Amino acid sequence: MENIYDLIIVGAGPAGLAAGVYGARAKMKTLILEKGTIGGMAAKTTEIVNYPGIPKTSGEKLGEVMSKHAEKLGATIVRDSIRTVELNGEIKILKSRRKEYKARSVIFATGTRPRVLGIPGEVDFKGSGVAYCATCDAEFFSNQEVIVVGSGDQAIEEGMFISKYASKVKVIVLHDEGVLDCNRLSAEEAFKNPKIEFIWNSTLDEIIGDESVERVKVKNLKTGNITDIPCKGVFFFVGMIPNTEFLEETELKLDKRGHIECDSLLNSSISGVFVAGDVREKYLKQVITAAADGAIAAVAAEKYLEEMNIYINRIKDKNVAIGFWNSLDSDGLKYLSEKEKELRENDVDDFIYVDIRKNKHLAKFFNKENIDSPELVINK
Ligand SMILES: Cc1cc2nc3c(=O)[nH]c(=O)nc-3n(C[C@H](O)[C@H](O)[C@H](O)COP(=O)(O)OP(=O)(O)OC[C@H]3O[C@@H](n4cnc5c(N)ncnc54)[C@H](O)[C@@H]3O)c2cc1C
Repeated sequence: MENIYDLIIVGAGPAGLAAGVYGARAKMKTLILEKGTIGGMAAKTTEIVNYPGIPKTSGEKLGEVMSKHAEKLGATIVRDSIRTVELNGEIKILKSRRKEYKARSVIFATGTRPRVLGIPGEVDFKGSGVAYCATCDAEFFSNQEVIVVGSGDQAIEEGMFISKYASKVKVIVLHDEGVLDCNRLSAEEAFKNPKIEFIWNSTLDEIIGDESVERVKVKNLKTGNITDIPCKGVFFFVGMIPNTEFLEETELKLDKRGHIECDSLLNSSISGVFVAGDVREKYLKQVITAAADGAIAAVAAEKYLEEMNIYINRIKDKNVAIGFWNSLDSDGLKYLSEKEKELRENDVDDFIYVDIRKNKHLAKFFNKENIDSPELVINK
């Protein structure tokens, strides 16, 4: 028999694993697909101290505990990378290079990755001096000089962290002296830090070295002068990119930066497809908010499946009337109950009430999600 999952979650970071816990607990047949590290980006963080109830852990450990929890409740975790998807039908199809997976609902929890600027030397020295994660790599630069590229919250906060190890942190900033893109408190702290130095009005032009980074060329945007600065490491903190390239050719709506668009219940633009974690645009991208998203998306997926079950068992191929109404409109209910009496006598075998506020998926399925007054659909 064909293996069709109730729920497939793409990504086993905190969002995907939390969705796995909630999905499996709700007795949905749940599969989590992960192309890289179980635990996601958080697993690359050596210290997590802000997840409530766990005063201190490593991201790797947290990922391990979360994945065991999901598995214990019945979720299956498989290592595979999804490359193409077909999402529009009742059954969603996800394809990797070697396999095809089918599900009645999907949660994309594919997270983000650091932006690569493509500066000469950046890719060549990745892992040999070029880094994107302070908590993972700062220690390797103990008592050495490093460069930080970027001036947003992440750059300045990570720069402060690196300064615990490095002898000097030189931050390259595009803007005029004193202007950073981070919050004021972090800026004040950074200005007071004797190990942090700012190189204003500048960009990184090139990273040079033999086996690993030895120096960089920095260009002053006002004078055009290029300065050679010796250093052992270059940390890039210039933003994160959502992992959604494989969704670009689909009908799933992405914003201009590539995040998957969704509503507050984490419904994407396609019925039965949900979003969780850093892959959506939001105010705070952290483990706790990713996990919270996973829970919401899984519960929303469960509700979607319940409504689709009504469609499959009571509507599809049946002689039924469906009365769409808004539960705030009591006259609508009166109107529909009169219609029910009439129609049940001769015309239909069943009459189904769909409250468009509560049964949003069924309402959307029939394009009735925004009606002002009750409407009837006869399905024959
Ligand atoms: C340096 C650094 C330090 C951080 N420190 C903290 C901290 O101390 N506390 C905190 O709360 N947060 C921290 N964060 C943020 C936290 O890591 C993220 O908010 C969180 O990991 C987001 O979870 P997620 O599940 O949405 O995505 P991710 O953790 O990014 O997981 C997404 C997963 O999806 C997988 N995936 C992507 N595409 C596919 C595909 N096509 N097929 C299969 N799998 C796919 C990826 O391999 C990845 O494992 C830190 C982030 C960074 C970069």
